[in-house]
Amino acid sequence: MTLDFDMGTRAGELRGQLRELIHQELPERFPGAFTDNPTDLAAAQRFCRVLAERDLLCLSWPKEFGGADASVWEQTVVREEMWAHHEPRGAQYMGVNWVGPIIMRHGTPEQQRRHLPPIAAGEVIWCQGFSEPEAGSDLASLRTTARRDASDGWLINGQKIWTSYATMAQWCFLLARTTRVGEGAVTKKQQGLTIFLVPMDNPAIQVRPIGTMMGPHHLNEVFFDDLRVTDADVLGAVDAGWSVVQDVMSYERVGIARYARCERLLAAAPDALGQRWETLPGELVARWVRMLTHCRRARLLAYRIVALQDSGRVAPGDAAAYRIAVTRLDQESAEVLMEIAAEAPAGAQAQWFRAEVEDHWRYSQAATVSSGSIEMQRILLSRALLAAPR
Ligand SMILES: Cc1cc2nc3c(=O)[nH]c(=O)nc-3n(C[C@H](O)[C@H](O)[C@H](O)COP(=O)(O)OP(=O)(O)OC[C@H]3O[C@@H](n4cnc5c(N)ncnc54)[C@H](O)[C@@H]3O)c2cc1C
Repeated sequence: MTLDFDMGTRAGELRGQLRELIHQELPERFPGAFTDNPTDLAAAQRFCRVLAERDLLCLSWPKEFGGADASVWEQTVVREEMWAHHEPRGAQYMGVNWVGPIIMRHGTPEQQRRHLPPIAAGEVIWCQGFSEPEAGSDLASLRTTARRDASDGWLINGQKIWTSYATMAQWCFLLARTTRVGEGAVTKKQQGLTIFLVPMDNPAIQVRPIGTMMGPHHLNEVFFDDLRVTDADVLGAVDAGWSVVQDVMSYERVGIARYARCERLLAAAPDALGQRWETLPGELVARWVRMLTHCRRARLLAYRIVALQDSGRVAPGDAAAYRIAVTRLDQESAEVLMEIAAEAPAGAQAQWFRAEVEDHWRYSQAATVSSGSIEMQRILLSRALLAAPR
């Protein structure tokens, strides 16, 4: 496959437009939506609506679903600029990156009409109910069940864990077991699983936050106690949820442009240090340069996946290669930046830089676990390489 990564003049203009909007519409030095201060979340929700009003939130979506029919490369520019600036879309990025595209692919016309316009308008937050206490890497072992209740009804019982944004979400993209292994035609644990689109305001759902160093809202436990849903809430075919999960992963694992924030902070380092930059040990500067090249590598791997996504051909190994590169970059650049930040002199610019680097370091620690651990990504990549024709 030949790849041309020149995104063209429209991409440059769009980048400028987004930076201008961030500057105009968000508080100075916006720290992200997930802080102890509720005004940060409110600012993110307001900003989503601003993007939506200008057709910038879901710009690559088809017009019929609330998008602007723009190219996936323009959507990539939005993804990069948002992550580089503390993801001012807040939790909305999940709806835009993978919930919407998956509903477009697997949803009924009714589900598309119901769910896509609110995502495109920046009005609704989704959470992902996949992981369970004994089923993270081994997701297909999950124990949450959905049992037939009435002719078109289901009763859901069980527990999810590590559910990001569950305290603020209006909808949950839930994976549950509908047929036990050994029942009917189900012979493997990857069979007999089904996706449900579930409203979070149902009293049969309880959310308990889990405290983390990433701040509030990030991680939660979610309990389902006789939650009633209907066939209209099933996404795709009953018992065929695993293929939807594979599709979700290929979107989700490239959905965050982590390299964009690493690059922004690495690029800000010389200015933040001022004259002190000139006297840094050569070894530290060499590691800084290496991180910039690793940003470039991760960016190119991301663009490769975007190109593959556009043609509908992303294999698990492709997404894994990018994920390994970008999550290692996140953590290694955080270490280098921490060492550089320790050398920063007093002053407002240096103070801002230190706070940003510290925030980047805290976030980066979970990068090699969320969306599938790095060990599992390595296994996926190895399988793909071993299976490739020689
Ligand atoms: C910040 C964050 C946000 C998250 N958000 C969500 C969310 O919104 N929704 C959701 O459903 N989940 C979410 N998760 C959960 C995430 O998907 C799981 O944590 C991840 O899949 C790992 O599962 P686990 O925590 O159960 O660890 P385990 O699967 O128990 O793994 C523990 C360790 O053992 C290793 N390991 C396990 N099996 C193997 C193997 N076969 N070979 C080699 N090594 C192995 C793993 O790599 C890991 O290092 C989130 C996690 C984090 C950290």
